This record gives sequence, C-alpha cells and structure tokens, in this order.
Amino acid sequence: MKTAWLFLFFALAVPGYAQTAATSKEVEAVYSAAHDLYLDIHQNPELSSHETQTASKLAARLRSLGHEVTEGVGGTGVVAILKNGAGPTVMLRTELDALPVEEKTGLPYASKVHAKDDSGRDVAVMHACGHDLHMAALVGTAAIMAHSKPSWHGTLMLIGQPAEETISGARRMIDDGLFTRFPKPAVGVALHVSNDLPAGQVGITPGIYNTNADSLRITIYGKGGHGALPQSTIDPIVIAARTILALQTIVSREVKPGEMAVVTVGYIRAGTKNNIIPDQAELGLTVRTFKAEVRKQVLAAITRIAKAEALAGGAQQEPLIEHNEATDLVYNDPALAERLRTPLEAAVGKENVITEGPIAPSEDYSLFIQQGVPSLYFSLGGADPQKFAESKSAGTTLPSNHSPYFAPDVDPALHTGIKAEVAVLRNLLSGASK
Ligand SMILES: [Zn+2]
Ligand SMILES: [Zn+2]
Repeated sequence: MKTAWLFLFFALAVPGYAQTAATSKEVEAVYSAAHDLYLDIHQNPELSSHETQTASKLAARLRSLGHEVTEGVGGTGVVAILKNGAGPTVMLRTELDALPVEEKTGLPYASKVHAKDDSGRDVAVMHACGHDLHMAALVGTAAIMAHSKPSWHGTLMLIGQPAEETISGARRMIDDGLFTRFPKPAVGVALHVSNDLPAGQVGITPGIYNTNADSLRITIYGKGGHGALPQSTIDPIVIAARTILALQTIVSREVKPGEMAVVTVGYIRAGTKNNIIPDQAELGLTVRTFKAEVRKQVLAAITRIAKAEALAGGAQQEPLIEHNEATDLVYNDPALAERLRTPLEAAVGKENVITEGPIAPSEDYSLFIQQGVPSLYFSLGGADPQKFAESKSAGTTLPSNHSPYFAPDVDPALHTGIKAEVAVLRNLLSGASK
C-alpha cells in the first residue's frame, strides 16, 4: 500500500500545471447558490444518523451539476462521482450532521428546530460544528469543478458522511462499500471550520492533526430510598461526585507533564426528585490523547478509580464501564501536506496559510486514512477577523465549535473554503493526463 502511494505521489507530482487557484469570477459564479444552501441547511439541521433531508438536498445539488450520485450509503451517506478522463480518484468529504444544542447566536437565520434524540428526549438542534458550512463549500467546489473540466483530469469523488458527531458514519459508509462499490481514492481531502483562525485563513498541520478519542459510560450502582433516610441507602450521587473529582487527578497527577490528555465528564444523570435517593447514577466521559501508551494509561486509571470509589462508597455491585465510542487520531501525510501548501498559498495568499499544531477535537475521518487513503485534513478559519483580533488582544476566547454561540463569519469563510478546496483538488487532479 505504501509503495503504491509513493508511486502515485510521484505520478501526481508532475509539475507544469500553472493555474490551480479558482478565479474570483469562478467563485462568484457559484457563491450565491452555495450560500443559499448554507442558510437552508443551517435553519434545518438534523441529528446524527437522521440527516435525510440534508442528504437529499446535497444529492439534488450535486446531481444537477452532472455528478453521478448515490444516496443511502451507510445510512444517509451520499457519494457523488464526476469522471473526467484518465487520472487518479481524489475524494473530498463533508459531514452532514448537526448537534443537540440550542442555538443562542441571535442570528436572523438561527435554528429553531427541535427533534427527538435517540433516547426519545426532545432536544434543540443546531449546526454548532459548522458542518453546514462544509456542505456549502463542497457544493460550491463541485460546481466550479463541473464547470472547468479542461482544468483537471481524473475522477472527483465527493462524499457526504453522516453521523460524524457520534463517530459512526465513516465506519458505516466503509462497511457499505464506500471503497469497493465506488472507485477507491488515491488521496483524500477534508477541512474543518473553527474560530481558532480568522476567516480568510487556512491552517495546515503535517503529521498528527488531532487526538485519539474515547467515549465511556459509567453506571454507578447504589441503593435507592427516601431522601430523609440516607442510612438505609447507598447514595450513587455522592459516589458519582467523588468519582468525578478523583477522575480529574488522572491528568494532573498521573500523566507525565507535557503529555496530551483530557478527561471530561460531559454529563451526569441521576435521580428524579429532591427527596428520593436514586438507585444508580450515570456518567458520560470523553477522553482525548495523542499517544497510544497515554491512551492506555488514562483508560486504565478511569477503570481503577471508578471501581475504587464505588467500593469506598459501599456499593454492592461494581460499576459498569462501557467503552461505547472510540476513534483514532487523524494523521496528515506530511509529504502531501507540504505539496498542497503551494496551491493553498496561491489560492488564499501566502500569509493566510498558517502552520498549526495538533488540536484536541476528534474525528472519524481517521477510518478513511486507515483504509489506505492518505489525506490532508486542514483547518478553515471561521472567526470574524475583527472579533478574532479583539479577543486575542483581550486574552479571551471566541465561542468554540459545539457552543450555542458558535457563528462562523460565513461570507469570508465560505469564499475561502471554496477557493482552498478547488486549489487542492485541481493540484491533485492535474498531473496524470496530458
Ligand atoms: Zn463537532
Ligand atoms: Zn465537526
């Protein structure tokens, strides 16, 4: 697989193709349709694995541009193929899903959508991770590529992946034949918008891009009873509280200083009423690491602490520890990252291509790489440049992805996203045909 990739890399690297950057005229010609799609999808977000309307909107746009579109790949996934003569297959991926977050941006196009989550609870839904912007950029890019076929050769493979936020969609698309029913890409590309960079910029991270992610659910078993009669109960809420605090000593006391590790308890569920001590308490954790050995160390410490705190609290049953989601870090092929710096600089300006260190949020894009698709996963600036500068000088931070206040500066970010994607795709699809 490595040899094949090396061969392809050199085959693709044939120089002599001058113009990869999309012209302003090309971007302006597709921008308003891309922006319309952004507004529509932003106002109609759908939860992970339920992206039916979103997928069909994306599919319809791509079909109208002449792409060969297949829907329902791995659930609600979309695959769009545009063949254009001999040459490699290059994949560009967007996610489809939104999050159970109540939007508080106050924007005129803010989401007001509610839906039932998988446990049947009513939740507000918001594109708080910017996947709506990724879809809009992909459609703008698809239009430019479809309208400029003489500028590239090969097969463009665009995919709309469901359920990224639950780290399940990439696996389901692969299991449903993503790389067997469709051409297997020689290279893959994806981007993610965030407020870590101002809109107008892109970030490249050669090598390790993000973290290993593990989701755990810990169920602590107590003994329920009357809130006024604690002596007749084993209170799982008190055990949960002690467990949460003890878990915070893993990173601060057990992991070697300087090693990357995060342990977050993102939810705690227990009880129904003030005067009832419940039977059990549930904790939801996310764990992030860079190194395999640190990952192993942290997961082992969580198990040890959860069991020991339950024992200390007098629980008669060991807690149940379920490892329900896991994904490996995304590794950016360093040679590919270096190669694509040139077209990115040509597209958005040398000063606007930033080299960044790895980030903490995770992704199931790593599964595509593990299938033998060397990739570049890069960052797209989303912050209003003025607010970004103000927050930098004030030492504050702008709302992160997943915040109810996350609101990318759409116009510059979407323009830049389209320009960057076109430049990268044209570069990758430029060398194999004369
Ligand atoms: Zn996200
Ligand atoms: Zn995301």
